[in-house]
Amino acid sequence: MSGMSDSALFSTYARFPITLVKGKGSRLWDDQGKEYIDFMSGLAVTNLGHVPDAVKNAIVRQLDQLWHVSNLFHTPNGEKAAKLLTDNSCADAVFFCNSGAEANEAAIKLARRYHQKLKGNDRYEIITFTQSFHGRTLATLTATGQDKVKEGFLPLPQGFVHVPLHDLPALEAAVNDKTAAIMLELVQAEGGVIPVDADFLKQVRALCDRHGILLIVDEIQTGMGRTGKLFAYEHYDVEPDIFTLAKGLGSGVPVGAMLAKAHVRDAFVPGAHATTFGATPLIMASVIATIETMLSEKAVERAAAASEYLMGQLNAKLNGLPNVVGVRGKGLLVGILCDGPAAEAISELHKRGLLVVPAGPNVIRLLPNLLVSNEDIDAAVALIAAVLTEQAAAQTAKS
Ligand SMILES: *Cc1c(COP(=O)(O)O)cnc(C)c1O
Repeated sequence: MSGMSDSALFSTYARFPITLVKGKGSRLWDDQGKEYIDFMSGLAVTNLGHVPDAVKNAIVRQLDQLWHVSNLFHTPNGEKAAKLLTDNSCADAVFFCNSGAEANEAAIKLARRYHQKLKGNDRYEIITFTQSFHGRTLATLTATGQDKVKEGFLPLPQGFVHVPLHDLPALEAAVNDKTAAIMLELVQAEGGVIPVDADFLKQVRALCDRHGILLIVDEIQTGMGRTGKLFAYEHYDVEPDIFTLAKGLGSGVPVGAMLAKAHVRDAFVPGAHATTFGATPLIMASVIATIETMLSEKAVERAAAASEYLMGQLNAKLNGLPNVVGVRGKGLLVGILCDGPAAEAISELHKRGLLVVPAGPNVIRLLPNLLVSNEDIDAAVALIAAVLTEQAAAQTAKS
């Protein structure tokens, strides 16, 4: 199947030459029956592992009950999922949608409407950071601080400004009387697994407070326990006005959410924003079961412990390799920064049965599920160390 030239799918992905057909926990199997240790989790989606029983059972129960009703009716599952999120975060209200880009789109719309309707000013500009990733719709790819996602899509929507991450003077200079919000990821994930500095985030929050600017945190990849806290902002002594979720929120069903604090929520009134499938009973059953399982299984605490073990093992086993610049990240969003392109090492790891993914050209990104065992971490680190050691030896032999 893989590499099929007569595929009816758009070739929007340079796909790996692997066809996966079955998964359970930390394991995936391809159409040849080969078993893989999964250290990418469908890109930070299957945070409880593949086909988690509690979530599967909740979906199966809901399948017999009701799949879809319009959001013009009350949705008990939607209410319950929203309450679980607000009870466990700094947010007071939730808007459910279908994807990360749609959640960020809602955040951008809410920020503009907050200023233009609640505050009575005409602010609309959103400041984001270079190397950021916020999605592929026209507004969110414009928000994204990487040129490669914008090629061929001109003209772009107005009102987005980018500054380099951790450059406070540049950020202060970019703020003006049109600034509606500052939006950022707390670990730039697609951009290379770059954690935001705690002092910088405090300064960003203070800048927002000084100028009446909203702080939007994109937790689409960092949320749902991925960084060893339920939400990454909990690592910092800072709360966003708005934050967004998607990837890990439903264990693999398509879902996104935009969450906001009380002072912002009334900017959305009936008719201001909508989406057909948001808060629909079937998907919400998966979200409820995902959050409840995360809490009952102490998945977030386990992710923090697994992270400490993984980081320790990586630092010990990769220490001194000339082709490894360093290991960075938060929780189980981990990047191994190589001294050159990581694609070859990644493809070799796939061949040896470990699924990992790049983050930018030079970073091997590890995203095991939150319940990953130390045995799987040992096996993964041994494979990574073997491949990078062989690569270093080959490089030495060449030079
Ligand atoms: C994946 C991702 C998005 C986009 O989510 P989609 O569901 O693909 O639209 C936005 N922001 C961040 C930080 C992401 O990792």
